[in-house]
Amino acid sequence: MDFQYSEKVELLRDQVQHFMDQHIIPRNRQYQAVSSGPLRNDPEALAFVQDLRMLAKEQGLWNLFMPGLRDDEPGMGLSNSEFAPLMEIMGRIPWSLQIFNCNAPNTGNMELLHAAANEEQRQKFLLPLLEGEATSCFSMTEPDVASSDATNIQTSIKRDGDEYVINGRKWFSSNILHPDCAFCIVLGKTDPQASRHRQQSMIVVPIDTPGVEIVRDIPVFHGMHTGGHGEVVYNNVRVPASNLLGEEGDGFAIAQARLGPGRIHYGMRCIGMAELALELMVARCQERKAFGKYLHEHGMTAEQIARSRMEIDQARFLVLHTAKVMDDVGTKAARKEIAMIKIVASELVCNVADRAIQIHGAMGMSPDTPLAELYTLARVMRIGDGPNEVHLNAIAKMEVRESNPLDALRYYTGPE
Ligand SMILES: Cc1cc2nc3c(=O)[nH]c(=O)nc-3n(C[C@H](O)[C@H](O)[C@H](O)COP(=O)(O)OP(=O)(O)OC[C@H]3O[C@@H](n4cnc5c(N)ncnc54)[C@H](O)[C@@H]3O)c2cc1C
Repeated sequence: MDFQYSEKVELLRDQVQHFMDQHIIPRNRQYQAVSSGPLRNDPEALAFVQDLRMLAKEQGLWNLFMPGLRDDEPGMGLSNSEFAPLMEIMGRIPWSLQIFNCNAPNTGNMELLHAAANEEQRQKFLLPLLEGEATSCFSMTEPDVASSDATNIQTSIKRDGDEYVINGRKWFSSNILHPDCAFCIVLGKTDPQASRHRQQSMIVVPIDTPGVEIVRDIPVFHGMHTGGHGEVVYNNVRVPASNLLGEEGDGFAIAQARLGPGRIHYGMRCIGMAELALELMVARCQERKAFGKYLHEHGMTAEQIARSRMEIDQARFLVLHTAKVMDDVGTKAARKEIAMIKIVASELVCNVADRAIQIHGAMGMSPDTPLAELYTLARVMRIGDGPNEVHLNAIAKMEVRESNPLDALRYYTGPE
């Protein structure tokens, strides 16, 4: 396998890095202050973000995550392998993803709509997201049931004439408080009597529909940020029947397909997050002395640096390999690799950011470095898009299914 980036990718890397240097890094302090403060969802305070988005779009640095775009859909249609090194650059500054229209939950929603929307739904819901005129939210997780098992979801979606009526309570619906959030994609049950994986359906709910009641914005590790994580009650919410994605009963399959590409995006950005954490760790070690020595001259710290470098490089190879498998044989066939990279990458950043925080001492816990934000994000990634344990189970099942015990047992050396 060739890990050399193509000329096209090298050029794009330069362009993305240049955009970051020119337009994003200089606004980083401003964004952090707005995003964590009381004006975090204020359209005026966020106007500079939309301006930057439109600038990136003008420069063609737009929808880079999305393969298979149609002619009337803006973007380059890069493959997963081409996108991976670009996402690594963006990963260093989490809010930069939205500037290039490559941020969750919109990416997953765009992929989902690309795969499941009919022409009318494409015009109404997908194109505004692809154009950057709107953002969206994905509303699956519920406080009352273990939502890592999507078959547990309780929200009801009932047909009534030309409409569906939705009732239920969701939480951690990320981005629902963003001023440009136009709609939520809601997972619920249309037929609780159907077979286990055919009970669920997915429906688009415009945010201004009567009965959509946002109860609270849930802080993560006591911090708030733009878009938030909403607890939301759907109280007799009526939407046109034409908002249903696919057929009744397709919801579980659509949800599974949605989460695949998102996991490789996590993997790619985690490499950039971990690289930044390591760079900061090394920089701090070179300027700080304790007990008469620079920190990197203490053996225990040196080991932390070395381990971090080895773990990052291992993870990068697995990301690139996974992206290639997805490009060559498709998301479904790359299930095992996608599950592996989701775990490896989220654990990688937790480990490296944790070490970097430790080496920064008290400063590592403050908002003066990006480390606390990187750690928080990585910690979320071990739970979001399916907790790591669920993926570990899936990998083990595939490994057992694919194994050939008779072949392995030939190597036994004990008595017959
Ligand atoms: C910051 C953040 C943002 C989020 N954004 C969204 C969003 O936009 N939309 C959305 O719908 N959801 C979102 N989520 C929710 C996330 O997807 C769920 O939290 C996740 O799927 C787990 O569901 P749960 O919280 O109900 O945990 P549960 O299902 O209750 O699981 C709890 C724990 O049980 C263990 N466990 C579960 N299954 C197994 C198993 N098979 N084997 C071993 N152990 C197991 C794991 O340790 C797991 O963490 C977000 C979460 C966070 C923290």
